[in-house]
Amino acid sequence: MLDIRFEKTTAPKQIPGKEDPLTFGTIFTDHMFIMNYETGKGWHDARVVPYQPIVLQPSAMVFHYGQEMFEGLKAYKTAEGKTLLFRPDKNIERANRTNERICIPTIPEEDFLQAIKAVVKADEAWIPEKEGTSLYIRPFIIATDPFLGVRPSDTYMFIIILSPVGAYYPEGLNPVKIWIEDEYVRAVKGGIGEAKTGGNYVASLKSQVKAHDAGYSQVLWLDGVERKYIEEVGAMNIFFKINGTVVTPMLNGSILPGVTRDSVIALCKEWGIPVEEKRISIDDIFEAAHNGTLEEVWGTGTAAVISPVGHLRWGEHVMQVQDGGIGPVSQKLYDTVTGIQTGKVEDTLGW
Ligand code: PMP
Repeated sequence: MLDIRFEKTTAPKQIPGKEDPLTFGTIFTDHMFIMNYETGKGWHDARVVPYQPIVLQPSAMVFHYGQEMFEGLKAYKTAEGKTLLFRPDKNIERANRTNERICIPTIPEEDFLQAIKAVVKADEAWIPEKEGTSLYIRPFIIATDPFLGVRPSDTYMFIIILSPVGAYYPEGLNPVKIWIEDEYVRAVKGGIGEAKTGGNYVASLKSQVKAHDAGYSQVLWLDGVERKYIEEVGAMNIFFKINGTVVTPMLNGSILPGVTRDSVIALCKEWGIPVEEKRISIDDIFEAAHNGTLEEVWGTGTAAVISPVGHLRWGEHVMQVQDGGIGPVSQKLYDTVTGIQTGKVEDTLGW
């Protein structure tokens, strides 16, 4: 159990009004959580303090070798005014798997959850209530030793910041256009693809810019060896419904194990929809699209929850999925997951 000191802001900011439009990740609340680590001393000095800049040496290791992990989850307000977190245990488990992979000291799960709850409680008034909005929670850890050699740091900062958010994609629930990348790769088995760390995202930027310039909202990555098997989208896992069966790439070491992915698989199973986690080649998808058996495509992630895909491009090949609308399974998943998140749908799965 952490002993969390609380320093309340003396200059509270204006909380966005009910009708103010919210985008993703641009506004930050009044407080943040911080805790430090030092070899020999462990994690210590847990505090909730006013949101503010942090001071680091230019030599801090995170700036040079990218030893950092981050997570993303959300808090919601129910109609009765209660605050709900969605499956925080899954994010905490994943955070510690990332920590293990990149030599950052883990944080006891109960302390991690206590830290999230403390800062969310401090800024509870910032949780937006309008349909499709939530409070995005961004925990992260950075390596802070002032040292230019390559080795794991001996000191770290664990910080949690909060941001009231609306839709991740300007398209909302309208199907997005996806660019299948055939030049660069995001990750390979044995690398850091299944960890939530900045390096995976910097590796994706060049393709993302290329895709944006061509009018596409996200990149779909293929495997790093054969460039043939589907991995995941920029910040989402990917699902296809082919001939009545829902398929998604199996977790193979280079894909991020999404919490929303896990939730969607569980719901489909609960509803009796066949679900398969397997290796899926891009050729199979294009074949299904052309023989009329590709019924739905959607991405899953904390930010957008369910994001229907209407159009995929792979080199010269273009594939149209839905006629500008959202498919029935994608819609039902969106309604159910967001319903559980906001307390409107009964949570029979203990999330
Ligand atoms: N893949 C990547 C690369 C991501 O960044 C995310 C977002 N965290 C996801 C998948 C979806 O994961 P989750 O459902 O846990 O948000």
